[in-house]
Amino acid sequence: MFELLKTDTSSRARLGRLTTPRGVIDTPMFMPVGTQGSVKALDPRELVEMGTQIILGNTYHLHIRPGLEIITAAGGLHKFINWPHPILTDSGGFQVFSLAKIRKIKEHGVEFRSHLDGSLLFLGPKEAMNIQRVLGSDIAMVFDECPPHDSPPREMRLAVERTIRWAQECREQPRAAGQMFFGIVQGGSNAALREECAKKLVAMEFDGYAIGGVSVGEPEPEVMKAIEFTEPFLPANKARYAMGLGTPAQMVELVARGVDLFDCVLPTRVARNGTAFTSKGTVSVKAGFNKSDFRPIEEGCTCYACQNFSRAYLRHLLNVGEILGLRMVSVHNSHMFLKVMTDMRAALAAGTFAEFRREFIANYVPTRKVLSARLETR
Ligand SMILES: [Zn+2]
Repeated sequence: MFELLKTDTSSRARLGRLTTPRGVIDTPMFMPVGTQGSVKALDPRELVEMGTQIILGNTYHLHIRPGLEIITAAGGLHKFINWPHPILTDSGGFQVFSLAKIRKIKEHGVEFRSHLDGSLLFLGPKEAMNIQRVLGSDIAMVFDECPPHDSPPREMRLAVERTIRWAQECREQPRAAGQMFFGIVQGGSNAALREECAKKLVAMEFDGYAIGGVSVGEPEPEVMKAIEFTEPFLPANKARYAMGLGTPAQMVELVARGVDLFDCVLPTRVARNGTAFTSKGTVSVKAGFNKSDFRPIEEGCTCYACQNFSRAYLRHLLNVGEILGLRMVSVHNSHMFLKVMTDMRAALAAGTFAEFRREFIANYVPTRKVLSARLETR
């Protein structure tokens, strides 16, 4: 189901192809996040136009609203949201540990109160796999425990043990026809725990492996360490997915460390604050210096927003609160993230990834504000 087409000689980067029941995903690939069944501010036609091959959905959120009864009546998640292409569903583990108000970790899952109305709910391997089966996603994720990055060693170990045990329980649950499923490696920035978790999950033979517990508030060097501690223990013939990451520059560095798949809320989240991603870093479209700048957000960009509108006009829309403004910045940002992937795949195919990486990182100036925006919950 995953074909490794080419490996880079200068790094751990890989060119690949993941075949799912509803379509092929060329890797490295970015997956726009549609937590609530919609990639914020974008419609399916726009997503397809910009080259989206797979989007994310979320077990926790979709289970709470609109609920499985309605999605079942609609004929599954793909039909309900009119997205006939691949969908990966997150298991809800991350949300249970980050959003739920009060929670009690039990043997077979977590009892928690809904972040919306306080009602008592329970989510564990059995429930998470059942919800994902009913949603009918193409790739399901195991239910894991995602501990805070600064958890004491004892708690980090317990979380890894539970993650391994729950992964096994997930394996035993029925799945939708053709539904693939990925294990999630935890262990924070502890090398021994990452190795142990990765090895035990690989022995269970999942269709792919995610590196979880990253992008949870830790500084960037810790993120890179967590990936480096995990990647060597993952099989080369399976896809690797870094959950919740990252900025364009981080994604380039993560591809160089052997990661194939990414998801991140940044392109649409910062768009709503009037911030755009460019090959040189982020730019505030809202800023006064764009008042009479009639160039597009990024010259040479082929997205709909850059082909049709100026910075000055988009700034005006954002300042008066017109929805079109944040929609167009969302279009540009999502297009930009996908374009970075297209460029990396082209460089990998041509054997020029080292040059691409060097040039990209030299041009790209990271923004602190953007890095901190990533840390809000999904
Ligand atoms: Zn653009």
